[in-house]
Amino acid sequence: MNHKNIFTKIIEKKVPANIIYQDEKITAFTDISPKAPVHILVIPNLFIKNLNYINKKNLDILSHMMYVSIKIAKKNKINKSGYRIIINCNKHGGQEIQYLHIHILGGKKLRKI
Ligand code: 5GP
Repeated sequence: MNHKNIFTKIIEKKVPANIIYQDEKITAFTDISPKAPVHILVIPNLFIKNLNYINKKNLDILSHMMYVSIKIAKKNKINKSGYRIIINCNKHGGQEIQYLHIHILGGKKLRKI
C-alpha cells in the first residue's frame, strides 16, 4: 500500500475523509480509527516523509501545523480539559503511515506515558 498516496489522495479529495480544516499549506482530518473521542490528523499538503526530513528550508511547516493544531483543539473544546499532540517517527516511534502527521488526541483522560 502506498501511504504517501493515501494522504495525498485525502488532500486532493480523491478518497473520502472528514476534512475539518484546509489551507494552502496543510490539511486536517479526523482519524479513520480514532484512539480518543477527538482524534485529528494534521498533515502538510506537500509530502514530507517524517520528522527526519525536516530541514532549514521546510522547518516553518511544523510551527504552522502546531499553531493550527492548537486552534483545532480550542475549536473542539478540549483545550481546558487537556489534550496531547504526538508525532510518531519510524518503526520504534510507531509511525505506520510514512507521511508526516500530527495526531491531536483528547476528549478523555489519556493514559500517562
Ligand atoms: P501513525 O501510526 O503513522 O502515527 O498514524 C497513522 C494514522 O493514520 C493512524 O491513527 C490511522 O488510524 C490513520 N489512518 C490510516 N489510514 C487512514 C485513512 O485512510 N484515512 C484516515 N482518515 N486515517 C487513516
